[in-house]
Amino acid sequence: MSQTKGQLSIHSENIFPIIKKWLYSDHDIFLRELVSNASDAITKLKKLASMSEITLPDDTAFKVQVILNPEDKTITFIDNGIGMTQEDVEKYINQIAFSGAEDFLNTYKDKTDKDQIIGHFGLGFYSSFMVSDQVEIFTKSYIEDAPAVHWVCDGGTDYSLETIEGEERGTRIVLHLGEEGKSFLDSYTVKHTLEKYCGFMPYPIFFTNTADTPKEGEELKALNETHPLYLSQPSACNDDEYKEFYRKTFSDYKEPLFWIHLNMDYPFNLKGILYFPKLSSEFETSEGSIKLYNNQVFVAENIKEVIPEFLLLLKGVIDCPDLPLNVSRSFLQNDGFVKKISDYISRKVADKLTGLFNTQREAYEGFWGDIHPFIKYGILKDEKFHERVKDAVLYKTTESKFMTLPEYTAAYCPEEEKTVYYTTDLVQQAQYIALIKAHDKAALVLEERIDQPFITHIEAKEEKTHFKRVDTGIADTDTEASGYSEEEVTAATDLFKTALGRETLTLKVEKIKHSDISAMLVLDEEKRRFQEMMKMYSMNQPGMNLGGSDSTLVLNSEHPLIKKLLASDGADVETKALIAHHVYDLAKLSHEPLSADEMLAFTKRTNELLTKLI
Ligand code: ADP
Repeated sequence: MSQTKGQLSIHSENIFPIIKKWLYSDHDIFLRELVSNASDAITKLKKLASMSEITLPDDTAFKVQVILNPEDKTITFIDNGIGMTQEDVEKYINQIAFSGAEDFLNTYKDKTDKDQIIGHFGLGFYSSFMVSDQVEIFTKSYIEDAPAVHWVCDGGTDYSLETIEGEERGTRIVLHLGEEGKSFLDSYTVKHTLEKYCGFMPYPIFFTNTADTPKEGEELKALNETHPLYLSQPSACNDDEYKEFYRKTFSDYKEPLFWIHLNMDYPFNLKGILYFPKLSSEFETSEGSIKLYNNQVFVAENIKEVIPEFLLLLKGVIDCPDLPLNVSRSFLQNDGFVKKISDYISRKVADKLTGLFNTQREAYEGFWGDIHPFIKYGILKDEKFHERVKDAVLYKTTESKFMTLPEYTAAYCPEEEKTVYYTTDLVQQAQYIALIKAHDKAALVLEERIDQPFITHIEAKEEKTHFKRVDTGIADTDTEASGYSEEEVTAATDLFKTALGRETLTLKVEKIKHSDISAMLVLDEEKRRFQEMMKMYSMNQPGMNLGGSDSTLVLNSEHPLIKKLLASDGADVETKALIAHHVYDLAKLSHEPLSADEMLAFTKRTNELLTKLI
């Protein structure tokens, strides 16, 4: 038996306090690093076997074991991989793969961005010192005759290394957990962390807690899925498998609407599945989750540098071994390769949507209610995505049909300047919708918050298309005069001004193509949008002139009540004032809710008018 003692070769005094301090917030990562190393060791051994460098028994069952011993305060990692010789340990462990030790210190001294430092500097194994007071390695190389080795280090720069007897091929690493590792004495924490990071690793991982007595006859199950569905060829997967994978991975028991299986080998390697989740409310749209893997090892969730931002509303897994995920995010942001990946994903999503639209329009219409906020958001955020999906954008009409914009304009807009009517509230704007119908047109239902910026965006692209909310009034195609002279309109305006006690009022008398409407309030689209925008950004400060959004009162020259009201004879002045105020309130009621005072006055006046009838 030979024993050596030595010092880890690090140029700077001591790397461990730095590891502990800097990587503290990420300290569960040691589980990922040690299991990854174990898994890599198995892959290396299999590689040698495949190259006939070594012969392995046919029934070799490769596996990684993680054993928690709360009593001894240890976690042990065992693999039956390639193992290490004494030279290997000296080379790969003692030198800490640390050509970059000084770089490390210099680079991260003053920075708070500590993401992925571990992998970047080949510190994987040493992350175990974030939680341990002492680490032991027992390892035996695949090379016959090479003795097993035992390495111990207490987290200082001193280590001891000796050859030992026994041990099977492979590596056993024992972490003696210290104060900082206390939380990992809990089974649930360890298991949960392993599931998070190692859920798709390629060899079965078995977790046991020595404090638990195994139930009789119960077979220990691996906690990971060694061949996750996304690695299969899309043609070999069926719907049930996709749904099952979704349920398991995201613990979401609502079925996904549909999914996209990404499978690319060239020019980069990328596999994954993106799911469109079923939403139960508008607010849920923000709860997407896209998990990124690097060769079946979980790296991070929702990295917006890699996934186009609007896709973060989806759920999915993406595995990209080529991605330089071990480097900092600021690097990712400026990396051309990362941009290509992001573009590829965006294109695939657009292709899927247009494919569904072209081949399964009915089903696509069924999904539309769930997917449209996401598509609209994508269109606003990503020019290329807009180009790709623009023909597959649907609008629901007040006739409960789904139409594309060209379909709508072909059906309802014969004129060159196309006016597209829309409603933001089917109930409040019912009267205006009825009027649109009377004109043999339909309006689009655009009720979500995203719709306003969305239509502004579409207008900017489609020059001759203008969106107008139904309460902008519909320009009557027959522009025949109402039959009322200018003087009569002025007299009518005065009547309403006096009745309402207002000094200013814009009033028009027009033929309204709906016999039930006596009067309506119409608003200028541009002014209203401007005001809404100001409100949204809370810029509507008192005293600020926003250009005024005063609505115009349009009286229906065809309605018998208006005819009588505007006739020079008939009721007395007092009754006419009451009626004028009432007509105004009715128009207002069909436009927006009345204030409390207006409501009280309206009820009082209704009673007064009814009394006159008896
Ligand atoms: P990295 O994995 O990034 O190379 P690590 O510090 O995690 O860096 O590991 C350093 C080296 O130690 C590995 O490259 C490998 O050669 C060796 N090693 C670590 N763990 C094992 C293991 N379980 N079996 C065999 N070799 C290992």
